[in-house]
Amino acid sequence: FLAGKRALVTGSTSGIGLAIARALRAEGAEVVLSGFGEPGLIETLCAELDARHVAADLSRREGVEALLAAAGPVDILVNNAGMQHVAPVEEFPVEKWDQILALNLTAAFDACRLAIPHMKAQNWGRIINIASAHSLTASPYKSAYVAAKHGLAGLTKTLALELALTRITANCISPGYVWTPLVENQIPDTMAARGLTREQVISDVLLERQPTKDFAKPSDLGELAVFLCRDAAQQITGANLSMDGGWTAQ
Ligand code: NAD
Repeated sequence: FLAGKRALVTGSTSGIGLAIARALRAEGAEVVLSGFGEPGLIETLCAELDARHVAADLSRREGVEALLAAAGPVDILVNNAGMQHVAPVEEFPVEKWDQILALNLTAAFDACRLAIPHMKAQNWGRIINIASAHSLTASPYKSAYVAAKHGLAGLTKTLALELALTRITANCISPGYVWTPLVENQIPDTMAARGLTREQVISDVLLERQPTKDFAKPSDLGELAVFLCRDAAQQITGANLSMDGGWTAQ
């Protein structure tokens, strides 16, 4: 049902973004991939998804602008690229703070700013911001990430109000823990920060607050993104849809 629509998914060479790109492609959308990765991997993904890949560092404004220019008019914008750093506030590297705010929040603002004129011109669009349970609640040692994701949720509500009289919707999807490289890669830092084993980090830290004690799959997020593109989702806007195993129900 998405034939003729172009979807730009930021950070789609891995994890959740890749799964969303696959799900949108399966419904017929033309997909534009973004994100880092080995040339061989990117070539394989472009072939699999019949997609273009645009290389750009989205933690820099010029990178976001270059991506949107190269992508061309976008009907479905998924702001997914994100990064994490785990450290106490007083030891938090200031350049990591700047980078996380730039990538997880400012890049989404810039991408929306540049994509909305075309969506308005055709009176249809879908903005899907991949936030986090950390857009609704906090955890220690993740100050930049929690601040950026709360900001992304606020940006999304504002977009929904500004666009309410158009057929453009803006929503957040907020996963709890999804089994991706981003999660796997923060295990060593958390082990060091808290003096725990890998198994303890998984059961007592990562899934501590996820009552189902299970991870969501990236493809589950892909299905929710597809649903948000359907006509049936026209009246879902400004929402922050949790897929967090009950985390934020507590
Ligand atoms: P991931 O590390 O697997 O993928 C991140 C993607 O972003 C990759 O394609 C990477 O190349 C790209 N990227 C990183 N820095 C970039 C930059 N400067 N410029 C352009 N692209 C860049 O991560 P993931 O787990 O799939 O996370 C995707 C999104 O979902 C993030 O916004 C993350 O905060 C959010 N999220 C993830 C989880 C989880 O459990 N994995 C939970 C909640 C929210």
